[in-house]
Amino acid sequence: MEKEKLYITTTLPYVNAEPHIGHALEFVQADAISRYFRKKLGEENVFFNVGTDEHGQKILDKSKKEGITVQEFVDKYAQRFKDFCELFFVKYDHFYRTSDPKHHKAAREFWRRCEENGDIYKKKYRGLYCVGCERFLLEKELVDGKCPDHGIEPEIKEEENYFFRLTKYRDTLLKWLEEKPDVLKPRRKLDELKTIIREAEDISISRLKENLPWGIEVPNDPDQVLYVWFDALTNYVNVIGFGEDEEKLNSWWPGIQLFGPDNVRFQGSIWQGMLASVGLPQSKRLLEHGMILGPDGRKMSKTLGNVISPFDQEAKFGAEVVRFYLLTGIATFADSAYKEEELKNMYNSRLANNFGNLLNRTIHLANSKKVEINNVKAVEKSFKEKVDRLEQDIKKFYDEYEIALAGEKIDELADWGNKYITEKEPWEESKKKEEVETILNNLSYLLHVVSEFYEPIIPLSAIKARKALEKREKIILFEKI
Ligand SMILES: [Zn+2]
Repeated sequence: MEKEKLYITTTLPYVNAEPHIGHALEFVQADAISRYFRKKLGEENVFFNVGTDEHGQKILDKSKKEGITVQEFVDKYAQRFKDFCELFFVKYDHFYRTSDPKHHKAAREFWRRCEENGDIYKKKYRGLYCVGCERFLLEKELVDGKCPDHGIEPEIKEEENYFFRLTKYRDTLLKWLEEKPDVLKPRRKLDELKTIIREAEDISISRLKENLPWGIEVPNDPDQVLYVWFDALTNYVNVIGFGEDEEKLNSWWPGIQLFGPDNVRFQGSIWQGMLASVGLPQSKRLLEHGMILGPDGRKMSKTLGNVISPFDQEAKFGAEVVRFYLLTGIATFADSAYKEEELKNMYNSRLANNFGNLLNRTIHLANSKKVEINNVKAVEKSFKEKVDRLEQDIKKFYDEYEIALAGEKIDELADWGNKYITEKEPWEESKKKEEVETILNNLSYLLHVVSEFYEPIIPLSAIKARKALEKREKIILFEKI
């Protein structure tokens, strides 16, 4: 039987600013999922893509403002994202950059295939253009005549552009969601996506090159460049061999796509239409994570002064603590407020008190009582059954990408271990040595399982915990904060 493979990709952040906490959430979620599946399916059966979106007007403007060439500008910011991944232990297989010549070639190939299928046509277009969004907006999208995202009035613009026949795929996409309603997570957003698809119109996918020199030229029309979103979206399949290596592409695609709520139109509608156009299957899963809100529960904004920087948080608490909170304290598929108090409480109760404390006590007692631990064969049947049951629950959550819920179950397991040790009192002088050995050996089994499943969330500490257990070394892994 062919082994199951998993391909997962984040969206590509636009490199016109520093990585923010929303990027941190998306990147560490994808990392945790890929780490779990690397263990489950084998390292070589998982492919994890991240990267940066590097074309467009905003980037060109910003590079001018900084007085450097646009290539220097994107190099600088792409590096910031790479450093950011390293800082938060995001172990990707590929870092995709849309300014890479290989991407240009593949994106143009994608265009050509859509064109071959009759899905691209040229049309004069007059519309309301938002410079902030870098796209034409529909009248109904405006709030008080302004772009809702940028608060500025769009300008009237006329251009002859290429359009993509998204409407041609309306029924295909609706049928796909009808047949596979579980594609989108959370499921409650399904109606929203269906409405987006139903109301979608053909979209402009090019710009005049004289207006936007920083982009990829349209095949056979040097006066036009690919619209930034169109070129960037193709990365998801280019990275696994589109236009170059069909066999490789088919071995990885369809994949799992992770994105934020502001991105569902692109990921769930436009991109899916593009896939249908080139004859590729729709994405395997669409995972829409929530938005991180400020501590006050409101959308983060500079004016409100409630913005949380991932770099500040890392400096304050360390990368793994921030990871731990993002993955287990912040809901995986719903909007959540980021609260430092909650971060501290969660870390102290779950890691310092629950897991860390049980680990220390078990190792310490095993050493002082001179008993054998880490002997899986000798674990009591009823004890093992209880652990295995919880283990199944944890796996079920991870298999469904429910990281926060998996975290909760892992904590439940550690908590049960603490109750067990309290009830059994292996430190009591009156206990027989064999009895003490059974209790502590049982617990060492439980601790192995706990650290195994914490590994996707806190990779370094989990490995340290397991090593300490194996070597029976006293270790304070989780200092209270
Ligand atoms: Zn806008």
